[in-house]
Amino acid sequence: MYGTQTIGKDGHLYIGGIDTVRLAEEFGTPLYVYDTALMKQKIRSFKEAFSKHTALSWQIAYASKAFSTLAMIQLAGDFGLSLDVVSGGELYTALKAGFPAERIHFHGNNKSKDELAMALDAKIGAVIVDNFSELNVLDQMCAERGQNMEILLRITPGVEAHTHEFIMTGHDDTKFGFNLDNGMAERAVLLALRSEHLALKGLHCHIGSQIFETEGFVRAIRAIFSHMNVWTRKMNFHMKVLNVGGGFGIKYTGSDHPLPIGRFIDAIVDTIEDECARHSLSVPEVWIEPGRSIVGEAGTTLYTLGSSKDIPGIRKYIAVDGGMADNIRPALYQANYEAICANRANEPADQSVTIAGKCCETGDVLIKDALVPESFKSGDLLAVLCTGAYGYSMASHYNRLPNPAVVFVEDGEASIVVRRETYEDLIRHDVPLKTFSSRE
Ligand SMILES: *Cc1c(COP(=O)(O)O)cnc(C)c1O
Repeated sequence: MYGTQTIGKDGHLYIGGIDTVRLAEEFGTPLYVYDTALMKQKIRSFKEAFSKHTALSWQIAYASKAFSTLAMIQLAGDFGLSLDVVSGGELYTALKAGFPAERIHFHGNNKSKDELAMALDAKIGAVIVDNFSELNVLDQMCAERGQNMEILLRITPGVEAHTHEFIMTGHDDTKFGFNLDNGMAERAVLLALRSEHLALKGLHCHIGSQIFETEGFVRAIRAIFSHMNVWTRKMNFHMKVLNVGGGFGIKYTGSDHPLPIGRFIDAIVDTIEDECARHSLSVPEVWIEPGRSIVGEAGTTLYTLGSSKDIPGIRKYIAVDGGMADNIRPALYQANYEAICANRANEPADQSVTIAGKCCETGDVLIKDALVPESFKSGDLLAVLCTGAYGYSMASHYNRLPNPAVVFVEDGEASIVVRRETYEDLIRHDVPLKTFSSRE
């Protein structure tokens, strides 16, 4: 149970003071429900963690790839966040939501010229340059336009965070960023400093996702500073911004034990301040980029239960009216979730079942071993918890399933923020063949 989730006297799951059974009746299923109070609380905890470091300047950029819709971007903007986008589509969404351009940062390893032109037209805050060809293209485009752009360079620091451990081998083999250890990063700094139109504000790194320890951040920061020390003296490069990325772990299931956000921020800031003191450098502005840790736990997907198949001695499958089309994470990376029977949340959940989706793939299983009440049956409502990140944003139309609706709930009010797609929407861009009258 997360945020404002409660179980009512009627045995129903409530979110934001609203009965999920009522939500399902009104908006249909599958339905993505977001607890906006919980998102705001997550944002506040990031801000509070930074506020303790009174001498520090900082920015929290919401990584919009986790969940990007007009309403979500508006919420992020209203709460003073900056914004990461990784494509023209995410940038377009941000601009249409009226997000202040100067707080938008553009990421990605293969930004097209059109996408870069969009970013230049909008005069966004920074482009995080990922590779030499981008550095070159952006420099040329700025020269042609007589326009300047602030940039960060994405550094691959040779530290890769893996859920519970980090590895120090094989880490340099990634499509992202300028590698630190083989001199690519140094060459990029040199080229960026020489550019007339690109203003090198600082460096960026992002070591992974669903991280449960501070050690990876500490190592990445130390690795960057071991070079910064040299670059400052050799190239007169002064880093005004250090962006350490996102990836702060969340509690998908009872076996996840995320650190309080303050622990991450303290470790990051303390390490940066320590390195700066050691090398006599001034402390840069610190940027972070949380995605899932803002929206993940706030999202719940409601499904209606349909058919079931009991294989004696093996397992019992229960199928829901969605699946991999609205949540690809279990099929894509064996992600685990927990679920509640939303219309009998007060009954003991002691039957172990497998929650399957309705797509034509054996791998379309949402939860391998979910605990549901004995009396669980067709027509019941299932709430899969913690689906707010990379669920809607990774949704597909596989099997021509229309994308579900998204509602925000808070203080007893529900607002629809994405309408459910219709069958008509599915064929909207299809172009039928002309009749084959002349065919033999
Ligand atoms: C995906 C990504 C993030 C956000 O990761 P979360 O695990 O959602 O916090 C931040 N920065 C970059 C560069 C990313 O690619």
